[in-house]
Formats: sequence, structure tokens, C-alpha cells
Amino acid sequence: MPERFDAIIVGAGQAGPPLAGRLTAAGQTVAVIERKLVGGTCVNYGCIPTKTLVASAHAAHLARRGGDFGIGTGDVSVDMAAVKARKDKISGGDREGLESWLAGMEGATLIRGHARFEDPHTLRVDDRLLEADRIFLNVGGRAVVPDMPGLADIDYLTNVGILDLDVVPDHLVIIGGSYIALEFAQMYRRFGAQVTVVEKGPRLTGREDEDVSAAIKDILEAEGITVVVGADAISFAKRENGIAVTPREGAEPIVGSHVLIAVGRTPNTDDLGLDAAGVETDSRGYVVVDDQLRTSVPHIWAMGDCNGKGAFTHTSYNDFEIVAANLLDDDPRRVSDRITTYALYIDPPLGRAGMTADEVRKSGRKALVGTRPMTRVGRAVEKGETQGFMKVVVDAETKEILGASILGVGGDEVVHLILDVMTAKLPYTAISRTMHIHPTVSELVPTLLQDLTPLS
Ligand SMILES: Cc1cc2nc3c(=O)[nH]c(=O)nc-3n(C[C@H](O)[C@H](O)[C@H](O)COP(=O)(O)OP(=O)(O)OC[C@H]3O[C@@H](n4cnc5c(N)ncnc54)[C@H](O)[C@@H]3O)c2cc1C
Repeated sequence: MPERFDAIIVGAGQAGPPLAGRLTAAGQTVAVIERKLVGGTCVNYGCIPTKTLVASAHAAHLARRGGDFGIGTGDVSVDMAAVKARKDKISGGDREGLESWLAGMEGATLIRGHARFEDPHTLRVDDRLLEADRIFLNVGGRAVVPDMPGLADIDYLTNVGILDLDVVPDHLVIIGGSYIALEFAQMYRRFGAQVTVVEKGPRLTGREDEDVSAAIKDILEAEGITVVVGADAISFAKRENGIAVTPREGAEPIVGSHVLIAVGRTPNTDDLGLDAAGVETDSRGYVVVDDQLRTSVPHIWAMGDCNGKGAFTHTSYNDFEIVAANLLDDDPRRVSDRITTYALYIDPPLGRAGMTADEVRKSGRKALVGTRPMTRVGRAVEKGETQGFMKVVVDAETKEILGASILGVGGDEVVHLILDVMTAKLPYTAISRTMHIHPTVSELVPTLLQDLTPLS
């Protein structure tokens, strides 16, 4: 006989545990099934470990730049085992916190193992059968391993394996030129590795505006990272002195000691038995959901990376909020209410909200744009961190802000003042007429918005 619960949550990522908290608080019994580590990607292999490493890399960078600030530091060395230990402690602490929260949650049962549908209401975990009226999928995703010649014959790293390194590679070759790739590129360069980024497309971060991509490339190259773009036929071969990566036919191979594959993510939906439940997926394996995250089967929902509506911790957590609001609060929150926002955690970071200037152009609407280089931001000058620029695009008719790219010191924080005004659907004057604190990076946003010109 199957064990019965009011709800089953598959995956203890960013949406599952908080949903278990709300459901159990409402008196329901909930099984949370996790096949690996509680906390999922963010806590164990994503945001938290990488931002911990970014912080260590920043410390090394600042120490090397001590002379710029009149500070002598002597030789700077990186103890990668200690860097890793710090990362493991912070990430492990978060995971343990979540585990003990779930363990103490009355009505919740954490079941370890791989879950697979037997029928629309039943999941199998090893030899246990679990049954519920409502099922919530929070199964996340994993790194794409592309079909590239020679890749199967070499040892390569993904975002999971690279976190286990306790030595600095001699030469790290990174395949991919987007967010995850670039964060690892800069941090390992700062740890002391030679780093080459190999990107298939014509530029880094192809989803950003060209000026943003160019500035990111400048920032990375200034630190000695080699960027190879237009690598449209990447192949690999073992060599005695390392791994040869050939970016395109006829090109000189790049010989690295380590290769990191960071070319995108794929949802963990292929081994879930979704067919047995009748849950539809799209051509890339993402679970098809509606605006309130219901799947094609009325009693099954999908939250987080597996539904393709976002690829971030904040989108997964927001999915939980939407599901909980609809089911428990009689509040019809929807995915389409949220504004795209994310950060790229190179240093300085890129904070993004809404549309890029390019997307605005393509939409055909009349728009205004304001930009400021960080060299004109007093606080950035005082901090000695003047790389990057800010750009905000405004609808010429409604005066609402359409999007922003803040590439510069504090950009990941500053972008929120724009995001909040966008969410409130206020005109840009809500910022341009607000007095901000001096000296901050944020104080330049009103100034920038007082000086808008037509977007060409
Ligand atoms: C290197 C890296 C850096 C990142 N940095 C950031 C960042 O700075 N900011 C940000 O917002 N996002 C970042 N992300 C993305 C972020 O980590 C993910 O968007 C987020 O973790 C997705 O959460 P989720 O809830 O969808 O699923 P996940 O956190 O992936 O959790 C899914 C869980 O489901 C489990 N599972 C899967 N299938 C089954 C099954 N059949 N049975 C049982 N359990 C199963 C998995 O083991 C996993 O624990 C980063 C990602 C990576 C890889």
C-alpha cells in the first residue's frame, strides 16, 4: 500500500522547502523527496559557494592592488585549500540549517532518494510508494554537457566538480562565455591561474547589449584573461602536457591543465517518469506550466529551474510565493507580474532589470536612454573602482522605466531602486526627483535620469 500524504514535493531546492513550511503550517502532511543534497544547486553547487569564492578572489585582488590605496601587503599568496574550506563551511552551514529546519517541521517527512512517477498521484522512491492529492516538482537542473568532438575522452569539470578543487589550475580553459563561465573565469584568474574563455558566439554574454558585452570583455582582459569568441567548432584532445582545446577548424589549439564546461543548463526532468503522470514538457525538457505554475495535469505544479520560467534562485523562490499565494492565500499572483532581474557576479558586477536597450529597439517603441560611465560616479572614484557604466531606458510616452544595466561597483544593489520603481509602475521622475544619499553609487541614478536622450 502506498504511504499517503496531502502533498508531495520532489526536490529540496529553493521552492520546495519553503512550500513545505507553508503547507505544514496550514495543517497538511507533506513528503519532501531529495535524491542528493538538501538546498539543491544554489546552496551546494551554485550561488552560495560561487559567491563565497568570488569574495575570496576579491580579497586577493584587493590585496594585490593595495599599493593603489597606499597600503603595503607584500607578496600575495592564495591557499586554495583554505579558500575551499571557507566555501565548504558557509555552504555546508546553509545546508545544515535547511536540513534541521525541515527535520523540525511538524507534518513534514524528508525522504532521501530518487523519485519517479508511477501514475499521476503516485511516486516511487526505491521500494517505497508515496501517494498524494497534490504534487509539486522542484527538481532543478544541471550543466549541459555538449556533444563536442573529443569531450568524452578527456577529464572535464562542470560547476559541480570545479568546486572540489583545492589547488589552483595552471591553465583553466572555460568553454562558454556567459554568466557562470565568466564568474569562474575571473575568480580563478584572481586565484592565480592562467584563464582562457572560449565562446561559440560572436561576443560574451550574448543576451546583453553590445556595449555591456564589450565592457565586460574589457574588464576581464584587463586582468589578463584571454577571450576567444567565434569558436564554432570546438574539439578536445588529450596531450601529454594537458588538454588541447581547438576553438575552430584550423585554429591553433589552446593547451590547458583543466577544462570547465559552462555552456548552459538542462532541466532534471528526463528521469522523473513524467509520461506516467501525463505531465507535458517542451522540446528542451522544461515542464510546461501556466501563469500560476500549474502543469498540464491539474494537481501537479512545477517550480524553479525545471519550468523554464527562470534560471535563478530568486525566480524559484518567487515561484514558491506564487504557488503558496494561489493555494493558501486566495491571492492570484502570477509569473507574468514579475520583472526580469538578475546579476552577473564578476567584479564589478552587472545588475540587470527589465529589457535591454536592444530588446526595446526591437519592440519598436519610442524610448529615451540615459548613460553614465562609472568614472563620473564620485563614490566609484573614491573606491578606486571606476570600470563599467550605468544605462537606463525609459518609455518616451508613458515615462516608465523599461530596463536598466548597471555594470559597476555596487551594480547588483543599485539596480533594485530601479526595479522597485518599475514594479510600482511609477514614472522615472519618481527617481529623478528623489534626493539620494551622498556619496553613493545610487545618487547618480537621479542625475542620469535628468539627462535622457532619444534611444537610437
Ligand atoms: C555556478 C552557479 C552559480 C549560480 N549563481 C547564481 C546566483 O548568483 N544567483 C541566482 O539567483 N542564481 C544562481 N544560480 C542559479 C541557481 O542556483 C538556480 O537557479 C537555483 O538553485 C534553482 O533552484 P531550483 O529550486 O529550481 O532547483 P535546485 O536548487 O536545482 O534543486 C533541485 C533539487 O531537486 C533534486 N532532484 C532532482 N530530481 C530529483 C528526483 N527525481 N528525485 C528527488 N530529488 C530530485 C536535486 O537533487 C536538487 O537538490 C547559479 C547556478 C550555478 C550552477
